[in-house]
Amino acid sequence: MADHRLKTNKCPICKKATEEAFRPFCSKRCANVDLFNWLKGEYAVPGASAETEEEYDPFEGSPLRDRSN
Ligand SMILES: [Zn+2]
Repeated sequence: MADHRLKTNKCPICKKATEEAFRPFCSKRCANVDLFNWLKGEYAVPGASAETEEEYDPFEGSPLRDRSN
């Protein structure tokens, strides 16, 4: 039986037929485009906003008996 699956594979970037050397993409260019998109997604994580966590309530974690004076 023929391998229909391999022939129906398409590049997720430009929808062209995939090249075996660059699967699942059709070319090195599309592989780079996908990698670039993936990296952009990684860098999109808001790490700078974590500094606002500094504004926590100091009494929230303290046991009540420490304030019995
Ligand atoms: Zn492509």
